[in-house]
Amino acid sequence: MPASAPAPVSSPPAFAARAVSVGGSPVREILALTERPGLISFAGGLPAPELFDAEGLRAAYDAAFAVSARRALQYSTTEGAPELRGAVAARATARGLATAPDDVLVTSGSQQALALITATLVEPGDVVLVENPTYLAALQCFGLAGARVVPVPCDEEGILPDALAEIVARERPKLLYTVPTFQNPTGRTLPAARRAAVAQVAARLGLWLVEDDPYGDLRYEGAEVPWLAAHPGAEDRTALLGSFSKIMAPGLRLGWLRAPAALRRAAVVAKQAADLHTSTVDQLAAARYLEAVDLDAHVATVRTAYRARRDALLAGLGDALPAGSVWNRPEGGMFVWARLPEGHDATALLPKAVAQRVAFVPGAPFFTGPPDPRTLRLSFTTHTPAEIAEGLHRLGRALN
Ligand code: PMP
Repeated sequence: MPASAPAPVSSPPAFAARAVSVGGSPVREILALTERPGLISFAGGLPAPELFDAEGLRAAYDAAFAVSARRALQYSTTEGAPELRGAVAARATARGLATAPDDVLVTSGSQQALALITATLVEPGDVVLVENPTYLAALQCFGLAGARVVPVPCDEEGILPDALAEIVARERPKLLYTVPTFQNPTGRTLPAARRAAVAQVAARLGLWLVEDDPYGDLRYEGAEVPWLAAHPGAEDRTALLGSFSKIMAPGLRLGWLRAPAALRRAAVVAKQAADLHTSTVDQLAAARYLEAVDLDAHVATVRTAYRARRDALLAGLGDALPAGSVWNRPEGGMFVWARLPEGHDATALLPKAVAQRVAFVPGAPFFTGPPDPRTLRLSFTTHTPAEIAEGLHRLGRALN
């Protein structure tokens, strides 16, 4: 018998264009570098692990199992565990935004809430407005949806409402994505008067607002600024995203979305398609934890430590950075944003810094459109004040 010809082989079809067009996060690649022992990192936006309430959380998981292991280990509803939705609603209400448990959808991190809102609202080619610079993984999320991302002019206090109105009239965007409080990467906070103006622009010109607030509880000084969602005009058009990552622990992957009913219902359907529901046991443990522990007292401890770390960074930056550098003084959050003088390039500086065993994130990848190569983001949360001072000495050596 003649040998049969080999079966023809065809390559599988190509990846979706959107998957190819969005690159991986350059920050993830930098973070890999910073895991070297002895390196002092101002790079990652990580909470300090020694401040996690590991004992309290372990007890909460034990309690979740003890009360009903069968429930904790079973499938549950897409909207989330009623006790956790209730606790989130109570916390939001206490912060001045009347919220019922039914207004809340529990998500797998606030990152998922962003993905769900994007899946619900954004079609390929739709315009999405962002602060410039803004949170990298939001840019990835909008890129994957095929959005045309357009930056809104900002100054030291964030979005310029008049410029926003002009762009909305011109571009007819679907939504504005904003991190108004202790923004990532700049640490900036949008003042209340501008929030009121942004809400008015959204109401007048027709726009969804996506308010991402993972950092708002981490305030070290100054008065709290009400959520954008709480301003007149924003009520029926704001998706507010919250997170337990920075106040409990990011490994829990617990976040939430508060949105008007129709938008929330559409996000629930998108979540069914994505993961059915967020981990039942994690939700019940978090709800248990919120019952048993005063989370605000824990956050107060974290804030005290982070305030000292922020102050250590601010105290040493002047000696570390070359004359003519500028940086801000964030009232909370995790980041200081700095700009080197003319002729400097933060991306080129990074390998020199890593050689001196210190790291930061260059600002360029956070920009939409032409980046400012002189900018850098410095996170102050994961090292003690003494380590921060040493890290700044090393950074100064890298700059010389
Ligand atoms: N939004 C912003 C602005 C962030 O900085 C982060 C985390 N770094 C997230 C969302 C995602 O947080 P989560 O852990 O809740 O998914």
